Amino acid sequence: MNYAFSPTPIISIPVMSSDPFPVRRIYCVGQNYAAHAREMGSDAGREAPFFFTKPAQAVLPNHAVMPYPPGTSDLQHEVELVVALSLGGRDIPLDKANEHIFGYAVGLDMTKRDVQRTARGQGRPWDMSKGFDYSAPCAAITPALRTGVITKGKIELKVNGETRQSSDVDDMIWKIPEIINYLSQQVELYPGDLIFTGTPAGVGAVVKGDVIEATIGGLEALVITIG
Ligand code: MN
Repeated sequence: MNYAFSPTPIISIPVMSSDPFPVRRIYCVGQNYAAHAREMGSDAGREAPFFFTKPAQAVLPNHAVMPYPPGTSDLQHEVELVVALSLGGRDIPLDKANEHIFGYAVGLDMTKRDVQRTARGQGRPWDMSKGFDYSAPCAAITPALRTGVITKGKIELKVNGETRQSSDVDDMIWKIPEIINYLSQQVELYPGDLIFTGTPAGVGAVVKGDVIEATIGGLEALVITIG
């Protein structure tokens, strides 16, 4: 087909021992660890999970330099387990949800916290605080065939070698099958969708020159420098 101009290229993420994963949409779960919800000033109950999105173009590859973004003086890190889907659907039942997972990766939901707080206070959208350029660093995806279904494992983030976030994926309020089940009731999911499953407590600011190292047991570590 001819277009008025060349379409932007498909964004992809490397996959361990396989072809790259083409990214469609990026969904993010808000406040999915109780201690993080508390540090954000919210109650962490079992009320329905909420979602926001980032564009696929926000993906930043592993070992890259993330340019310090404009319009903020409070850029914060959020380490998250990323779930990559290879099978879509609507109303995906809980007991089938894991079959939709292609693999897992370590990701960062980079956030302009000052911009987000202002938006929250004014009842405005989060997009510019969450979905800005390079806001979704992501390491290589490890296929679920190799990891098995992930339900637990240490999730950690260090800045310049100092531990800032340390928890276990098992501490998620909404487990991965529940997230897929719930999200697929709101929107139809497709192969290529990524889900950032929320961050544990300990989020904080980074500045130019900081090196972020994010790890989850069994997955490729994610290392990003703020430039
Ligand atoms: Mn997050």
